[in-house]
Amino acid sequence: MKKLLTFLFFSLPYFATCQEVIECGSGEDVAQLTITSASKNAIAQMQNPEPLVFNIYFHLVKGDNGNWIPSPSDPNCCFNTNEPSIMQAVAFLNISYNPYNIYFKFLGWDEIHSDNYTALGTEYQALDNEYGRPDAIDVYVVDHFTNFGSFPPGAYVPSNPAYSTSIFFQHYGFSDAHYTNTTMLHEVGHVLNLKHVFENYNNANAERVTRDTNNPVYNADTHGDLVEDTPAQPKNPYATGNVDCAEPFDMTATNYYNEPYEDIIAGNFMSYTVNCNRHLSEGQIARIRESVQSNPDHYGPLMNTLASLYQPWEVTPIAGDHIVSVEEIPENTAMLKVCRNLLLRHRFQTGFNYQFPDCSWPDTIASTPYVIPVVKMETFDFPVIIQQISNEATEIVKVNCTRGVICAEEPIVGGVLISTQVLGSMNITVEELTKIQASDPSLFETLMSEYYYILKKMTETGVVKERYFYKP
Ligand SMILES: [Zn+2]
Repeated sequence: MKKLLTFLFFSLPYFATCQEVIECGSGEDVAQLTITSASKNAIAQMQNPEPLVFNIYFHLVKGDNGNWIPSPSDPNCCFNTNEPSIMQAVAFLNISYNPYNIYFKFLGWDEIHSDNYTALGTEYQALDNEYGRPDAIDVYVVDHFTNFGSFPPGAYVPSNPAYSTSIFFQHYGFSDAHYTNTTMLHEVGHVLNLKHVFENYNNANAERVTRDTNNPVYNADTHGDLVEDTPAQPKNPYATGNVDCAEPFDMTATNYYNEPYEDIIAGNFMSYTVNCNRHLSEGQIARIRESVQSNPDHYGPLMNTLASLYQPWEVTPIAGDHIVSVEEIPENTAMLKVCRNLLLRHRFQTGFNYQFPDCSWPDTIASTPYVIPVVKMETFDFPVIIQQISNEATEIVKVNCTRGVICAEEPIVGGVLISTQVLGSMNITVEELTKIQASDPSLFETLMSEYYYILKKMTETGVVKERYFYKP
């Protein structure tokens, strides 16, 4: 109980500003990958850059009992961490990075139930070793962090390269309010080898303000975030501590060397003010591309193709509307075995305007980025358009064999018994059967002999099994 109270106490200040403040747990030594080429070369290459597509996979890490630890909170802010909030994060990530020709292929999500990881400190390595996917950026949403002092960050990217393609969120840092998760943009930036734009701003290693490469103190290429076109800046350039861009920056602020800051632009993904004017600089994009090129062993396994974005992330066999067969089950008279035509439900990821030109209602025909498109009625291969990539249907989804059936046992909820002694006679008896009567294994024995019968048994979905017989 003591532990829980401590957790509540420290997390309450965080709830109040949950949506707006990024407190990122990546330290100053984040982004340790080396890069070989000069950033100016990479900028030149960016005139016609290859798209970069990264796989991403989510893990919701709860306790043994499958729950987050109960805590007072704003339910709209933080606690509905579930598939919809994951899909919102995927949408926002793509909307934010697609303008830079960077895409995220959603591979899916799972739920991990283990008390070992609800309070995450150094256990993050064991967690990632056990559950991490080698082919994706892993995003873990855990209950809460430990070992971060009194004010744990909302999210954490380890600086150790063996774990630096994984992102760890406290679940109240994984907010889905307003369909945005600015912390997600920021942490993915760390995974892509970007440092904070304010890196080392408050010590002797600070990036100098000058952009004049002839100035003797110029160090923008070797200090700060190692990106020349992001201005030197403090952790929070707003005088009041505000982060919502509603007021101008405090331009009287000075850096460690008492130089006034110049030309700071709000909203860089790698700042802590990401609530407006969200952007990356050309130099940051170049650094991402250089990092990918220089570290193929690190990034290669996570990468995918543009074509992969056209494929569903989940294909589930489902029953169609056509009933192929209904059978009684001799060993279980309370159920009927109902077989329907097999369909495949395809669910596509968020983040794009998908179009399915050959599909028709109730399947998705066109979607917007925050909608999960679903196609389940198609029995033939169907073409897919992603407007962000091309107006043409450049890819198709193969619908492999839907000729089978999918069967389920459905409980009997009632029935009707019609009986007559003489076929063709007007003298018939119709009796409604309750669930218990219709499911009764000894129903046949209770019937009168030398009668003809029609016995109808009905399931909760309205499927009827009808049987004609004569009891001698
Ligand atoms: Zn950070």
